[in-house]
Amino acid sequence: MKGDAIVKQVSSKNTKDAKISTLEVAGVFVAIGSKPNSNQWQELLSLDEGSYIITNEVMETKIPRIFAAGDVHHNSTRQAITAAGSGATAVISAERFLSF
Ligand SMILES: Cc1cc2nc3c(=O)[nH]c(=O)nc-3n(C[C@H](O)[C@H](O)[C@H](O)COP(=O)(O)OP(=O)(O)OC[C@H]3O[C@@H](n4cnc5c(N)ncnc54)[C@H](O)[C@@H]3O)c2cc1C
Repeated sequence: MKGDAIVKQVSSKNTKDAKISTLEVAGVFVAIGSKPNSNQWQELLSLDEGSYIITNEVMETKIPRIFAAGDVHHNSTRQAITAAGSGATAVISAERFLSF
């Protein structure tokens, strides 16, 4: 980042060809990405290419009665409200299994 009191430019380095590019900017938001902590499930459950756990519409994984919800599941929109919603779906699905 370059500038005096405020940022005016950012430079980035391409990790493949080491080329440096510079961009004029008025502000910067840093996003470092995220990776789900699903390693311990990779042998048992199906994970997608991003290591998110694949579930059906009631949040059940490929193993009956094992559920995944929140940011860790495939196709999550990674928002608090959708994480809570998928958690509620998983709990209700589990409760239905326990009722029978
Ligand atoms: C910087 C940032 C800003 C965000 N801003 C917004 C926003 O403005 N609005 C919005 O709706 N959403 C926002 N989100 C997304 C929101 O935080 C997530 O969608 C939500 O927290 C997901 O809830 P979760 O319970 O699925 O996962 P998490 O909140 O990540 O909770 C998972 C929990 O599991 C624990 N855990 C992980 N592995 C294990 C393990 N092996 N054993 C036991 N515990 C474990 C973790 O420590 C953590 O406490 C933001 C996220 C980030 C990172």
